Amino acid sequence: MDLIAGLERQLDALAGQSLTRRRRTADTPCAPRQVVDGRPMLAFCSNDYLGLAAHPRVVAALREGAELYGAGSGASHLVSGHSRAHALLEERLAALESPHLVDAKALYFCTGYMANLAVLTALGNDPDAVIFSEALNHASLIDGARLARAGVTVYPHGDVAALEAKLAASKATTKIVVTDSVFSMDGDLAPLPGLLALCERHGAWLVVDDAHGFGVLGENGRGALEHCKLRSPNLVYVGTLGKAAGVGGAFVAAHAAVIELMIQRARPYIYTTAAPPALAHALLASLDIIEGEEGAARRAHLARLIALLDRELKLQRWQRPVSHTAIQPIVIGANDEALRVASRLHEQGLWVPAIRPPTVAPGTARLRVTLCAAHTEEDVAQLAAALNKLEHEMERTGT
Ligand SMILES: *Cc1c(COP(=O)(O)O)cnc(C)c1O
Repeated sequence: MDLIAGLERQLDALAGQSLTRRRRTADTPCAPRQVVDGRPMLAFCSNDYLGLAAHPRVVAALREGAELYGAGSGASHLVSGHSRAHALLEERLAALESPHLVDAKALYFCTGYMANLAVLTALGNDPDAVIFSEALNHASLIDGARLARAGVTVYPHGDVAALEAKLAASKATTKIVVTDSVFSMDGDLAPLPGLLALCERHGAWLVVDDAHGFGVLGENGRGALEHCKLRSPNLVYVGTLGKAAGVGGAFVAAHAAVIELMIQRARPYIYTTAAPPALAHALLASLDIIEGEEGAARRAHLARLIALLDRELKLQRWQRPVSHTAIQPIVIGANDEALRVASRLHEQGLWVPAIRPPTVAPGTARLRVTLCAAHTEEDVAQLAAALNKLEHEMERTGT
């Protein structure tokens, strides 16, 4: 019983700081209008930025993929689990990012978390290497850097000059700079052109985690590299496929030698069962949408919704960091207040998650509003009106 009591003390400590997390259970597909724990809600939480997770063509392709390839892959990629669907997807993804890379190949992973572990452990498999990690990087990059044999140094958020000083002072044999492109809890963009120029000058890799950019940024939805018009052999691109692409998994696109090294060395690639091939097949349909006219129309609608939210929100007390992406944080500060606001919205049928430490820095608990191409202008206006009113009420009553 002492073992259990120890855990209960830890859980009580979390509860005392308003840090307990709980899951809500969705009864219907991911979409703005969802039934959650039996109740209809208007949701502003998902990373399904283009509204493809429940798109009929993607769902039909998933069904077709199961007919063609079965339910499971049966083994890891290097044993017997690598199917034609995976190979076709990788060719397609490499072609998609090839304008931005040199001699591009792509590798499909089960999740973005694993792709990030793979990139950093494969490139950083040397105690004389150093990983230069941006301060607000996603947890999967932090964990990848911890797992790599390389040393790690953290540079301040968005600070190209500070990174330059660190690179110039470093005697590392291999230098790896790693950053989110769109920061997942703030929605702002990393200064990629400046970072790439530095990396080229110092012979460093630039690993870009474009989890929130792939499908959404760039004229053709190719993501952050297209948005910033970059091309370099130093770039290692990680795109995830469970967010804007609406399905699941992730990919690394880079020079063929980087991809070959990961096939030979990256343990999160080698020692896990390949994702169901039907997912890869469904992703081909989702890429058709992203690259086609419908994708362009969905990105344009999303841009209109982002501008609309910006116009309609009139907040005084709560802070809105500058974000031009679908991630629109509203920083409230205290954990308990953020929870209270989320719960008041929930009572009105609006589902917006409260994000607390350690996901964000202490004292910056926030609502993380995400917009999606499946929202209507009325949905966004409703959210803005509810937030404006709630802030006013809480200010007035001090609760
Ligand atoms: C979601 C996310 C990941 C992880 O991707 P999954 O496919 O969900 O495992 C990696 N990096 C960032 C920045 C993310 O937001």
